[in-house]
Amino acid sequence: MAEFSGECLCGAVSWSSDGPVTRRLVCHRHDCQRATSSPFTAFIGLHSGSLKWYGKINHYESSAGSYRGFCPKCGTRLYFRSGKWPSEVHIHAATLDGGQTYRPTAQVVTRSRATWLDELADIPAHDSFHQPPKES
Ligand SMILES: [Zn+2]
Repeated sequence: MAEFSGECLCGAVSWSSDGPVTRRLVCHRHDCQRATSSPFTAFIGLHSGSLKWYGKINHYESSAGSYRGFCPKCGTRLYFRSGKWPSEVHIHAATLDGGQTYRPTAQVVTRSRATWLDELADIPAHDSFHQPPKES
């Protein structure tokens, strides 16, 4: 069994790797925010030669030499890779099996970090999505 593995939402694409891990990042870059429709994304960098992919992947060239891979069936974002770092692939950590235990070691491109993240720990938290909405 591989040290790291994961899959998209629908399971049509999966991946595995025995490492090594090159980076454990949270990225706040504006391009990544838009590409993932999320205020930030967590990546685990893995050596490209150790990655095995299963299933069809589409990719989008988001800037010259930089590609974002996604499942063509369910749209799950899978990776970012760039010609700047040809020996590694940044896998979206949310696709990791057991991803709840992922621990980033750095935040990058914090100049575009969503300012409301500073207040996240101070707003009400609920265990489910079944809370009635409140008008403020
Ligand atoms: Zn899928």
